[in-house]
Amino acid sequence: MEEEKCPKCGASLADVTETPTGRKLRRCSKGVWNTETHKTEGCDYVKWLEVEPQTLDEKCPKCGKPLVLQVTRFGKKMKKCSAGGWDKEAKQATGCDYIEWINGTTEKLDEKCPKCGEPLVLYTTAAGKKMKKCSTSGWDREAKQATGCDYILWLKTEFKSAPANGEEFLPPEDIF
Ligand SMILES: [Zn+2]
Ligand SMILES: [Zn+2]
Ligand SMILES: [Zn+2]
Repeated sequence: MEEEKCPKCGASLADVTETPTGRKLRRCSKGVWNTETHKTEGCDYVKWLEVEPQTLDEKCPKCGKPLVLQVTRFGKKMKKCSAGGWDKEAKQATGCDYIEWINGTTEKLDEKCPKCGEPLVLYTTAAGKKMKKCSTSGWDREAKQATGCDYILWLKTEFKSAPANGEEFLPPEDIF
């Protein structure tokens, strides 16, 4: 581990911690996340580490270059073209602009909805949260409202008691 100093207080940085959504960060060793008050005590410096995009065995449908898998700070996943980039100064995309957001997956379950008796499906969000919902449920994009049966049961996520690290309270950063 390279010896790095906190730019705020000069203390050394703590070891890399990984958030439940796969982002990596290093806090200042003088800062402690208080899980009860949901505040950082001491120095609040946080350094986000770049998550290496993963090259996929898929080609961009627009230009034919390989696609890469990226995870945003909020745990959303997307496939984007490796020929695409982001010009921080001009605040605009450069190169190929192909992006495909990865949404959750749906699996059929061998269970019946307690409300209407239709089969349930298991829905896993891109961030890994799971819920059971009724297979008759849907979303009317035009009316912007849910359709069908509204039965939903969120399941406890199986993260091995990942400690609350206050990721959601950290200062925002560019999503790219
Ligand atoms: Zn510090
Ligand atoms: Zn492309
Ligand atoms: Zn139902």
